[in-house]
Formats: sequence, structure tokens, C-alpha cells
Amino acid sequence: MPLSLRRRTRYNKSGMTVFSPPLTIGILGGGQLGRMMIYRAKKLGFRFAVLDEEEGPAGALADVFIKGSLKDPRALAELARASDVLTYEIEHINAGALEDLEKKSHAIYPSPAALRIIQDKLLQKELFARAGLPTAAWFAEDTPGGADFSQRKFPLVQKARREGYDGRGVRVLKNPSETPMNTPSIFEDMVAIDKELAVMAARGRDGSFAVYPVVEMAFNPEHNICDTVIAPARVDEKTAGAARDIAIDLVRALDGVGVFGVELFLDTRGRLLLNEVAPRPHNSGHYTMEACVTCQFEQHLRAVAGLPLGETRLLRPAVMMNLLGRPDSAGSPRFHGYAQALRIPGLSLHLYGKTEARPFRKMGHFTLTADTLEEALENAERARAVLKAGGSL
Ligand code: ADP
Repeated sequence: MPLSLRRRTRYNKSGMTVFSPPLTIGILGGGQLGRMMIYRAKKLGFRFAVLDEEEGPAGALADVFIKGSLKDPRALAELARASDVLTYEIEHINAGALEDLEKKSHAIYPSPAALRIIQDKLLQKELFARAGLPTAAWFAEDTPGGADFSQRKFPLVQKARREGYDGRGVRVLKNPSETPMNTPSIFEDMVAIDKELAVMAARGRDGSFAVYPVVEMAFNPEHNICDTVIAPARVDEKTAGAARDIAIDLVRALDGVGVFGVELFLDTRGRLLLNEVAPRPHNSGHYTMEACVTCQFEQHLRAVAGLPLGETRLLRPAVMMNLLGRPDSAGSPRFHGYAQALRIPGLSLHLYGKTEARPFRKMGHFTLTADTLEEALENAERARAVLKAGGSL
């Protein structure tokens, strides 16, 4: 354990831990995930330092904001100096610079080695194969523009190896006449998807696990962004258990510490296939803030700070919907139907404090909890009908 951490959490003579706040968590990335880490984990006595090019949703709440690029080693070193532990809320960061900081005894979780794997979809697929985890059949091409696809079976799903998110960097090729993106990529068989599932799995520094219920994700057909999460997923116990086991095996294979968002497909033949993993709290885990004993954000920080993990039990069925900017959004955000939505029983609203609305940008989300999933779904649809995120120039 690095010195600064040891100073703040140590054992007294009777073996009880003593915590002397504040423990400063440095977050790489100033987006909404960092913001929710801050407002859900301040209660544990943490302080937060945030690094990003713009203040953004998280920087606005941080105790210390450092302006700089997530790719700039000097900016990362400055954040490390201001923090006891480093974590991140986005994976598009300089993993090499993090490795250098780790060598200088800075505590960084999840590890830069795990991050390197997750940053590259080819390395992820190779890890799935090494760990014996099920995934769609795939092959890799470094220069798809010049490759011969004549012997391949179509349709294929092309995924850029690096820098993709929310469906960007993913393209479906229906037949060999379609031109692939000419960037190092993997190509997967098209899965006949019955349901897209996700599991949040947390692993502590001592190797202990805390796994959340399996949820269902539904996507916005226009824009490939997840817009609805249903907790728990409407799948049988055996499928849910198998999905959770896959998530555990994967996080163990990564030697992960923190919370991981594991995405899977359930195909029409009932098979589970691993899609991808995120080394951080995930959109599919936002529902845990209202519906579980310990939310994913607090859990992540418990894990990275070396504290015991919290209980993950689902207290009530829940439905989360993203509040995406309308297709004509621009300028300062405006939320139509705000008061009407707040009248809906069981609704909890989170706005991310972004200063500019853009089409399909994640401006906030809301979660409905209820005694039954049907009621939560019904009320979530009512909220979706009244609450709109737009903007005006
Ligand atoms: P991103 O990293 O951008 O989120 P994903 O790998 O999750 O990319 O793919 C985005 C979406 O594309 C998935 O949620 C799913 O709906 C669809 N998709 C991805 N891979 C496949 C596949 N092999 N077969 C069918 N659909 C897929």
C-alpha cells in the first residue's frame, strides 16, 4: 500500500482500523460518472480531485480541479501528486503514463495493465479466449481496406480496436461489397440477439467479490445508445447465475480492482456471449443508486480505496432511462416537463450539469423504483413521455 494511503487507514493496537480523513481520490475524467462517484461517495469522508480539459459535470463538484489532457503525462502526474489513490471514469486515457506512475508507487485502480487490455478490443477478445469465456466468433484485421473478405461469412460486425464508445467505431457489413472502416479492427459474427444483458461486478483489493443483479439493456434504435435498463433482467435464474459467473471469471482474469460493467448477449438459442467490459461504473448500473443497498459509485470507491465492499442486494425492481438530447438540441440545456416528471411516484432524477445540449448527448437519467417491475416500467414510460432534454441557442 502506498504511504499516503497507509497513513490514512491503519490498524490500532486492538486490530481496529482507524481512518483519518480526508482520503483524496483522483479521478481521470470530468464526466457524469465522475460526478456521481463524487456525490455518492463524499459521505464516506473522501475528497476528490478531478483532471480533464474542461471542468464538466465532475470538475464542478470536485474539491480540486486540474485542467489538462487525459493523454498528457505531466497532467496525470499533477493529479497523482494531489491524490492518495487514482481511478478513472473513462478509458480513453494514457495507459503508459499511468504505468509510469504506478512504478513510482502511486496507487491506481483498476490497474493500468487491466486498462491496456480493455482499451483494445483485440486484447479483450484474446483475454476472453485465454480465460475460456464464451464470445461471438471473431477475427482481426490491421488494414481492413486491403483485406480479402471473399471467403468470409456475412453479415459481420466490424469494431475498431481502439477509441470506440456508444456504438461509435461499430459498423455492420451486410455483404462483401460494403467497404469496411480502414482502421485496425476485429470482425465478429452477427449474433441473433434475444436480449442484451449487463452485470456490474466489484472486486476489492483483497480479491473479494460483490456482484449486482443481472439487468437488461434496451438501445435507442436511431443512435445505438443504451436508453433503458431494466433491473432485474427478465431471464431465468440459471441464465442470470451463468451471466454473473462469467462476470466474476472475467474480472478475476483481469486481476481487476474496482467496479466493472460486463456486457453480454443472450442469443435466440439461449446462449450467453460476452460482448465487452468497462473498467468503471457503467450506465447499466445507475439504477443501483436507488435500488440497491450499496450503489455502484460508492462500491467502486470502496474497492479502489481498499475498504470492504458493500452489499449489492436489489431492494426494489427498477427501470432507468437515459435523458438524451433531442435530435434538434443545441446551446444551453432546457428540460421540458421537469415538474411533471417529479410528480411521478418513485421517480428519481439526475441531471448531469452539462452546459451544452447536443443531439443524443447524455444530459441526465431517471430511475423509477416500484413494488413490481411492471409498475416501474409503466411509470418510466410516463416519465419518458413528459420529460425532454433540449436546448436553445
Ligand atoms: P461500444 O463499445 O461502442 O458500446 P459494442 O461492442 O457494445 O460497442 O456494440 C454496440 C452495439 O452493437 C451492441 O450493444 C449491440 O447492440 C450491437 N452489436 C455489437 N456486436 C454485435 C454482434 N456481434 N452481433 C450483433 N449485434 C452486435
